[in-house]
Amino acid sequence: MASTLRNSLPSKIKIFVWRARLGRLPVKVELDKRGVNLDSVRCNICNNDIETMEHMILSCPKVKELWGRVMSWWNSGINMYANRDSMFLGKGSRSDPNAYSKIWQCIEWVCGYSIWRNRNLSLFEKKDWSVPMTLNEIQVKSFQWINNRSKNPSLDWNVWLSNPNSYEDHG
Ligand SMILES: [Zn+2]
Repeated sequence: MASTLRNSLPSKIKIFVWRARLGRLPVKVELDKRGVNLDSVRCNICNNDIETMEHMILSCPKVKELWGRVMSWWNSGINMYANRDSMFLGKGSRSDPNAYSKIWQCIEWVCGYSIWRNRNLSLFEKKDWSVPMTLNEIQVKSFQWINNRSKNPSLDWNVWLSNPNSYEDHG
């Protein structure tokens, strides 16, 4: 099988997705099950619910808001929200044209990774987990990583920001 665009993403992202798909992210509930002594098993992004993997990647209110913003940016015109879970975990609906978009596949992996990275910064370095900041990071990083792949024509930053899926035909 030909390598996909997302295979050219940095290893740290591929490892993150691989672990997430196996249910092996060290979220608080999992650490607690293994007897790690934690102050709290609450999500430090919303400070409300228990931090399970599903909560942290998908259903935390701030994370949901972020996925919504990322999808609005992608501007698919299709409500993909219902498929969010299955798509991220690699069982995406085949009827959804975005499941085949190479660029969208990259963006969603970068999004998952950024959610986790900023969760760690929030937990260990007390940095604020912010929707606009995480969205910006996703836009910048996915732009850089996709651009670094020589097969792809150079992306234009302003076009990328306003209409990322216009590049799909060249992906
Ligand atoms: Zn939360």
